[in-house]
Amino acid sequence: MLQVVEADDVDGVVPDMTEVRSVTGSCLCSGVRYRLTGELRDVVNCFCQQCQKTSGHHVAATRVPNTGFELLADDTLSWYRSSDFAERGFCTNCGGNLFWRQVEGERISVMAGTIDHPTGLQTRENIFTEDKSDYHALPEVTTR
Ligand SMILES: [Zn+2]
Ligand SMILES: [Zn+2]
Repeated sequence: MLQVVEADDVDGVVPDMTEVRSVTGSCLCSGVRYRLTGELRDVVNCFCQQCQKTSGHHVAATRVPNTGFELLADDTLSWYRSSDFAERGFCTNCGGNLFWRQVEGERISVMAGTIDHPTGLQTRENIFTEDKSDYHALPEVTTR
C-alpha cells in the first residue's frame, strides 16, 4: 500500500509537511489517463459475474477517495450503468475497463492493471469467489 511518507521516517526531524505520493495510469490507447494521489487500498480481486463479464476474467482493483482521483484525459471515457447503484468506466476506443464506482459515492475503484508500473500495491483479498467460473484458479493473496 502506498503510504504518506513522513520526513521524520528519514532523518529523525519532526516533519513540518508530509509528502503525498501519486501514481498515474491509462487505458491501452491512452484516451483515458488519470492520476491517483494519497493512500491507495491494496488490490481486491472480485469474481462477481458483472466483473467477469466486463473484464473477461476477474477484476483486480485498488480504491481511492474521490479527492485522490484526477482525470488527465477523458476523451474516450464512457460510463456504463451496471446496476441500480453502480457504474463502470471504460474506454470507447480500445475497450479498456478502468473504473467502478457507486453512483453519488465518495470513492472510486480503479482497475489495478491500468496503473503504470510500479504500483507499490499488493493483492489483499479475493471476493465473491462463489461466483467464479469453473476454469478459474484463485490468485494468491498476500497477508501483511
Ligand atoms: Zn483506450
Ligand atoms: Zn465484481
